[in-house]
Amino acid sequence: TQRLQGKVAIITGGASGIGAATAKLFVEHGAKVIVADVQDEIGQSFCKALGPNDTVLYARCDVTLDSDVKDVVDMAVSKFGRLDIMYNNAGIVGAVDPTTLGSDDENFKRVFEVNVYGAFLGAKHAARVMIPTKKGVILFTASVASVIAGESPHAYTVSKHAVVGLMKNLCVELGQHGIRVNCISPGAITTPLLNNALKIDKSVVDGVLRASSVLKGGLIEVEDIAEAVVYLSSDESRFVSGVNLVVDGGYSTT
Ligand code: NAD
Repeated sequence: TQRLQGKVAIITGGASGIGAATAKLFVEHGAKVIVADVQDEIGQSFCKALGPNDTVLYARCDVTLDSDVKDVVDMAVSKFGRLDIMYNNAGIVGAVDPTTLGSDDENFKRVFEVNVYGAFLGAKHAARVMIPTKKGVILFTASVASVIAGESPHAYTVSKHAVVGLMKNLCVELGQHGIRVNCISPGAITTPLLNNALKIDKSVVDGVLRASSVLKGGLIEVEDIAEAVVYLSSDESRFVSGVNLVVDGGYSTT
């Protein structure tokens, strides 16, 4: 069944990992999708493979630049008529230095700029076009790092806690305009983000994840996150707002 038939979505960080898997599932469910990313070549060829350009478009969009985010939201309206779903998914881990004394100020600021300010800009421009329509869905990818401590670098953990705070504030403010706002918090998945951050290859990461997983019998895949995003984007979740949906196989309960 097509659970997003006729809906228009923007997915930031849509050229890779969780964002790409979500773009694919959105198209399967009948949505029109703009993949917004800074990896132009990868993004363009991904979109070409995903569907015709009356259904899937690539847009270069650095989420930390107000004008880029404004342009991609305006593109949704001009090309597809409106914006129903804004999925603020782009994120970076930054330097993997767990110690306070070893931290690098510029790195800390950059992680915040992408993960928090970038997410805010996406919400701001989406709200601008959604408020007059009295509906819409704004989503963020946070992380299990938004609910557990000590496993990610400080900047990353704090930025993901901040994303949840932003989501809650927006939920209260935008609810009066009929706009729902939620987070998805994935557990660790072997995407380029995790593999590059840890500088170890997929098989080693998979082994660690398997050993630490609560739910036995497999590992979380990007498609599992995409399924949760489809639920939160569809009218099936029409009274779900202000939620941080953790998809980690129970890991954060330990
Ligand atoms: P990924 O590296 O595969 O994809 C992230 C995408 O974001 C990339 O295509 C990258 O080019 C893009 N991006 C980075 N900076 C950008 C910017 N300034 N503007 C626009 N796009 C930008 O990683 P992923 O694992 O799919 O990560 C997606 C989200 O999921 C991130 O927010 C990440 O923090 C979060 N997350 C990932 C994991 C995991 O284990 N992989 C776990 C929890 C949360």
